[in-house]
Amino acid sequence: MTTTKLATCLICGASDYTVNGQNPQWSILTCNRCGLAFVYPIPEMAQIMELYPADYYAHREAVTRRPTLRADLKRMVASEIYDLPLPHRFQSWQSWSKKLIAWLLRYQMRIPPPRQGQRRVLDVGCGNGTYLLWLRELGWECYGNEIDTGAVIEARQAGLDVFHGDLQQAGYPVESFDIINFSSVLDHTADPLGNLREAFRLLKPGGEIIAHCPNFASLQSQLFGQNWYNYIPPEHLYYFPPNTLMAIFEKAGFRVEKLWHKSPTNFLPHTLMYRTRARRWFNPLKEHYHIEPEWSILAKSIFAPFSLIQDALGRGETIYIQGRKPVSSR
Ligand SMILES: [Zn+2]
Repeated sequence: MTTTKLATCLICGASDYTVNGQNPQWSILTCNRCGLAFVYPIPEMAQIMELYPADYYAHREAVTRRPTLRADLKRMVASEIYDLPLPHRFQSWQSWSKKLIAWLLRYQMRIPPPRQGQRRVLDVGCGNGTYLLWLRELGWECYGNEIDTGAVIEARQAGLDVFHGDLQQAGYPVESFDIINFSSVLDHTADPLGNLREAFRLLKPGGEIIAHCPNFASLQSQLFGQNWYNYIPPEHLYYFPPNTLMAIFEKAGFRVEKLWHKSPTNFLPHTLMYRTRARRWFNPLKEHYHIEPEWSILAKSIFAPFSLIQDALGRGETIYIQGRKPVSSR
C-alpha cells in the first residue's frame, strides 16, 4: 500500500489517501482521515453507462405484473401492519401465522403508506419501477428517475412517471416531495454529494430521506478485502463506512435519525465463490447479478445466522440510513 496526495476528500476535505487497489485506468483511494474510499479518477458519465449491460438486473420484470410469492408476502405483511387488502393465497391462513410472518418481515416496510398531508414520493435510481409500483399500491403519488434506458422504458410501460437521466438533470420544482428514497445510488453515482444536495432542495421541510448502500466497514469487507462481494470498481465508485455515510448526509443539510444494518444472506456464499475462483474468469457484473446457484436456498439457510450476527454487531453488509430535512432549514 502506498499513500498519495491528490484531490480533496468529498466529505472531510483532507488530501491524504491510502492507495488500496489499482489498475491502469484508476486507483482506489481511502481517505486517511474519514475512511471514505473511492475510484480515482472518477470515470466520465459515458464510461459509467458502458458498465451496464442491456440485461442488467434493473430491467427485470416489475413486481405487480406477476403475483409472485415474494410480492404477495409483502402484501400480506402490509395487510397486517397497515390494514390493506390481504392476498388471496393467504386468506385461509391462521391469524397467528400471519402475525408472526408480519413481525419477522416488518423491516420490509421501510416506507409506510402516506400519512395525513403526505402525497408524493421520489425514488432515485428507480430501475424498472419495481419499488415505485409497490409504493403506488400503498397510496403514494410516485415519481422516479433512472439513467438506464431499458429500465426507463419498462417503468413507463407500467404507467410510472420516470425521468430519464440523473437527479440533478430532472429539474423537479423545489419542495416537491414528502419522501425521497435512494436505492444503491450513492455508491454508483459520480456525484453523491450533489445528489444529496438536490434531494435536500426537493424535499419539503420536515421531509424524509432514506438510502442504502454497501458497508465498506462490514465484516466481510474487512475479512476479504478486494475479494469482497461489493468490491467492484468501477461499477461501485464510492465505498462508505457508516460514519462517512452519516457525514455526507449532514454535509448535505440533513439531520440523521437512524442508521441500521442488514446483510443479504447470499452475499457471503458469493464472496466465498469469488475468493475460491480466479477473478478473471468472469465478468464481474454478470457474476454479481446473474448467479442463481442451484443450492441457493440451502446456502441462504446455512449463511443466515452469519447475516444476523453481522447485523447485531453493527458490521452488516448493507447500511440503511434515514434522515430528515429540518423544518427550519430556510
Ligand atoms: Zn475524508
